[in-house]
Amino acid sequence: MPTSPRRRTTRSLLALLAAIALLAGACGNEDDEAGDTVVDDTTADEAGDTADETSFEPGTLASGATIERFDADGVIVHTYTNTEAGFGNTTTVIESDTAVVLVDAHFGAEPAAEFRALAESLGKPIDRLLITHEHPDHIGGIEPVFSDVESASSAGVVEAVAAAGTTITSVIEPGETEIDGVTYRIDVFADAEADEQIVITLPDHGVMLIGDLVYNDYHVVMSPTFDNWLSILDTLKATEGLELVIPGHGPPGGPEIIDEGIDYLTTARTAFADSADVESFNAAMIDAYPDHLGANLLEFGRLYGG
Ligand SMILES: [Zn+2]
Repeated sequence: MPTSPRRRTTRSLLALLAAIALLAGACGNEDDEAGDTVVDDTTADEAGDTADETSFEPGTLASGATIERFDADGVIVHTYTNTEAGFGNTTTVIESDTAVVLVDAHFGAEPAAEFRALAESLGKPIDRLLITHEHPDHIGGIEPVFSDVESASSAGVVEAVAAAGTTITSVIEPGETEIDGVTYRIDVFADAEADEQIVITLPDHGVMLIGDLVYNDYHVVMSPTFDNWLSILDTLKATEGLELVIPGHGPPGGPEIIDEGIDYLTTARTAFADSADVESFNAAMIDAYPDHLGANLLEFGRLYGG
């Protein structure tokens, strides 16, 4: 895959995301103090959760981001799902006995810093930051917030991110890697939502971080590779023992969110065949999924030569 089209794609996505983030106020909330990680008392209490400034407790933060925690057979999985203005990006901390592994880095420095502060509140060193793919909403926080942390992704993602001017410090090979006594399986997929992305599975814990192959309750940045993308999801869906699936956007769920992703893509494939232009395609998807958040994500699609 040549690097120049990929570079152009990343840069144009970056410009579009920056424009939308500025409009939506995702780049800065003047009401928040720097480093503020206070859990919103009202929402947390309503949810029956503990509000605590210094620990990574489930609930809604003052920033609007949502924290969830899952006990997964000896590892604890913490997720941070940004607001719709922050594209609903979900980042993850995998906490094992003596270390934490982080996954993805948000678009803006502010959520990335909040995510890191929460991860550090667990009191264990960050072993590394894994990056699922090259898109700006997953790598934007690397330089401002994680430049001192070892980061890793597949060779193709490292190359694409470097072309966009950001450094991922190492390549992680496909297959199984052990980190802090936990087996991580890395699978690399091409030509779906991104040119290349990794899927991270903890086979002994029933956990899959599926990246942007599935968005949960969010509209999807589309590419015209429907058949390939659907076949990847069919493969992943067959993973044995899957209990927790963490998408790149929207809240975590069970294996059913892969089925929902297949349904969305199948609908999109039909809408693409039936639509003359991107405007009618986007309208068809919003009509088909009126409750999905992030309709502006459809603007980043690569259909119709976009
Ligand atoms: Zn994304």
